Amino acid sequence: MFRKIFNPLLALAYPQSCHVCENSVENMSDGVACQSCWEKTEVFSDAETLCSKCGAFLQAQPINFQTFCHRCDEHFYDSASAVGVYGHALAASVLHLKREPFIAQRLRKIFVSRFHNSDFRDATLIIPVPLSKKRFLERGFNQAAVLSKLLAKQSGIKLDEQTLVRKIHTPMHRVGMDGKARAISVNNAFEITRPKLIEGEKVLLVDDVHTSGATVSNCAKILKENGADKVYVLTLAKTL
Ligand SMILES: [Zn+2]
Ligand SMILES: [Zn+2]
Repeated sequence: MFRKIFNPLLALAYPQSCHVCENSVENMSDGVACQSCWEKTEVFSDAETLCSKCGAFLQAQPINFQTFCHRCDEHFYDSASAVGVYGHALAASVLHLKREPFIAQRLRKIFVSRFHNSDFRDATLIIPVPLSKKRFLERGFNQAAVLSKLLAKQSGIKLDEQTLVRKIHTPMHRVGMDGKARAISVNNAFEITRPKLIEGEKVLLVDDVHTSGATVSNCAKILKENGADKVYVLTLAKTL
């Protein structure tokens, strides 16, 4: 408890060590990773080729036509975008956000600008990917809701944290779990409490990390079944 309250002050007094390489973090705005680890992080700049649907990284050189990875063909969302590739500073930031509901300035900046440079600006409703009640009680906050609040504030788009809920508690995705196993573990895990609030809306789903896409696809499926016009997905990171 005390650690949480005094953490920002402690960070000022004692430079934090980088969660990736353990060198010291000289700039507070860099959060949990040092400048050099941020420089190694693949943050998308629109110069690279990404899957036009799920946003997966395909190659560093641009191609001037739509390209698809085809692993996301069955997914129910319209399109997804991430700040960058899950690794280095972005991975450390995602892991940290599961422990502390705080987003460092550098991360805030690149997350909000990813939205402003996206095709999602016509979204009418921001919805965080929900946690199960059990996990919410364990963690004390939903990291996707922390990101959603930031985006709602910056964009003026309405935020809805109540309508989409996770009714089944699924075990944490494990490394090595294949796409099929992930898909089964999140199947039918979500429900809509007030369908009227979803009808005709262009929903921007927000989460910390986009892995196989099974979770966001299942959220999108139920949102569309309840009348959502569009479902976009924005995350901090996309795994390769
Ligand atoms: Zn570092
Ligand atoms: Zn794809």
